[in-house]
Amino acid sequence: MEDTIFSKILNGQIKTDFIYEDEYCVAFHDIAPQAPVHFLVIPKTPYIDIKEATKDSTLVGHLLRVCCDVANSLGLDPEGYRIITNKGNSGGQTVKHLHFHVLGGRALTWPPG
Ligand code: AMP
Repeated sequence: MEDTIFSKILNGQIKTDFIYEDEYCVAFHDIAPQAPVHFLVIPKTPYIDIKEATKDSTLVGHLLRVCCDVANSLGLDPEGYRIITNKGNSGGQTVKHLHFHVLGGRALTWPPG
């Protein structure tokens, strides 16, 4: 498994403030936010993408629960938010380590680009 920006965040090579951490995952604010609130939830196990991670459906469920819990803790629940994961080049994935984007704090348009 090649090193990615996210593996360097997980091993401390890139200093990042976590807004949530447990034994399976961390959450932190996106460095280039696309909405007033934009954070990422990533597993500590370096699955490349959502397809690879579906072999561990318990983990995927946990990651989604953390997305919702952190969104709630940041005050996004009343208005709502969007959870996205990009897979592969056509999906717009740039970091080859599974991550869920959670965006909120403004009305998001649809469809995405
Ligand atoms: P994706 O394009 O779906 O692979 O998303 C990768 C995301 O990682 C982008 O939204 C980037 O802005 C974000 N990102 C890259 N480097 C960092 C970093 N050091 N800290 C926080 N977010 C980052």
